[in-house]
Amino acid sequence: MSTTSDDQSSFDAEVAVIGLGAVGSSAAWRLAARGVDVIGFEQFEPGNAWGGSTGRTRLFRVACLEHPGLTPIARRARDLWRELEASAGQALFFETGGLMIGPSDSHIIEGTLAAAEAHDLPVERLDADEIASRFPAHARTNPGDVGVWDPEAGILRPEAAIIAAADAARAAGARILTGTRVVAIEPDANGVTVLTEVAKYRVRRVAVTSGPWITRFVPELPLTPHRVIMTWFRPREGHDADLDVLPVFIRSVPGHDTWIWGHGVVPASGPGSKEGFGGFDAKVGPEFDGPFVADDPDAIDRVVHPGETDGIRDLVAATFPDLEPEPSGVTTCIMTHTPDQLFVVGVTDHPRVVVGGGCSGHSFKHASALGELVAQSVVGEEHFTDAAFLDPRRFSG
Ligand SMILES: Cc1cc2nc3c(=O)[nH]c(=O)nc-3n(C[C@H](O)[C@H](O)[C@H](O)COP(=O)(O)OP(=O)(O)OC[C@H]3O[C@@H](n4cnc5c(N)ncnc54)[C@H](O)[C@@H]3O)c2cc1C
Repeated sequence: MSTTSDDQSSFDAEVAVIGLGAVGSSAAWRLAARGVDVIGFEQFEPGNAWGGSTGRTRLFRVACLEHPGLTPIARRARDLWRELEASAGQALFFETGGLMIGPSDSHIIEGTLAAAEAHDLPVERLDADEIASRFPAHARTNPGDVGVWDPEAGILRPEAAIIAAADAARAAGARILTGTRVVAIEPDANGVTVLTEVAKYRVRRVAVTSGPWITRFVPELPLTPHRVIMTWFRPREGHDADLDVLPVFIRSVPGHDTWIWGHGVVPASGPGSKEGFGGFDAKVGPEFDGPFVADDPDAIDRVVHPGETDGIRDLVAATFPDLEPEPSGVTTCIMTHTPDQLFVVGVTDHPRVVVGGGCSGHSFKHASALGELVAQSVVGEEHFTDAAFLDPRRFSG
């Protein structure tokens, strides 16, 4: 394992992937699929509840309001999720369509339309009456609100998808070490030494994909982990049917200057099924509002305390009269923000260290393709799309 010189035989692997969450499990898979000798380290298990990928569902959108350059990444990601579904033999992605609602000059609407226009996406514009007739659950809107329907949006199953990617990496030849925490990386001119709590490995390059823990290894990156609360809601008695027409949404809140996102019942076996995952019916989350900076992701408070859900309860009551506003379920998760709310993917200031992360609350949908971009950065292949806007060096000038 440990080495003193750097002849060919002294390397334990070509590449080490540190952190096998959403991006890392896919990076290990895409590297192994290229025939690269990969060793992946995960401090817990793939699909764990302690990073940024817990909560059973994630929204998928192709008309990415955050940046039009994300659309090709979402499309490539969807192909890869479908490939993983085939290898795992289970559904990971459900295309439900998605509804964005807000003022016509809001970021939600303008950003969605900008991505749709840039990529000629088949979105539909809806006025308030059309929103109310097609989506009765969304009948309450603010005066002047409009809607955009993205037919390609849907719901992903994060834990199952991560496990599927780690399994695909193994099947392609990657060595996956679980329950193995990396404590340091030491890059030099010839390679990188990776130190775990019990051993030392020598590799040629590393991909740091440790989510909220990335700055332990690449401290110069301006990433800020935040503790966030996720909530689930059930319909009021007698209103179950209303959630049948509640596809993915991001929307303004009547009488409030904020927005919420979520989706209704997740069909466990495809459209038409009434069976939901995990016994919840709807999931709604508030926009990130920043009070819970978690400098040490290991130390975040995992307990949701009385009063912490009062805000979301009021927003749900204002928006969805047919939902019981008291959450039926709550949990904590970690969201890792960058200053421009985009991700960091690519080679860092050290040429042997590639990074993939900085979720900013919207990277899961892209994670399989971000893994592909990480793999391409590691092997020096041209990116499948222009990813310069995600270059981690944009923050160091
Ligand atoms: C509440 C919430 C809602 C979200 N909703 C959406 C959504 O609807 N749609 C969307 O696209 N995105 C969404 N996101 C964003 C998305 O879920 C995350 O961006 C993404 O899952 C993060 O993936 P990651 O690979 O960067 O990190 P993670 O999945 O957290 O992976 C990091 C992994 O590294 C491991 N690790 C860390 N340190 C070490 C170490 N020293 N040694 C070994 N292993 C280590 C961790 O255990 C973990 O498994 C949301 C995020 C949150 C928090």
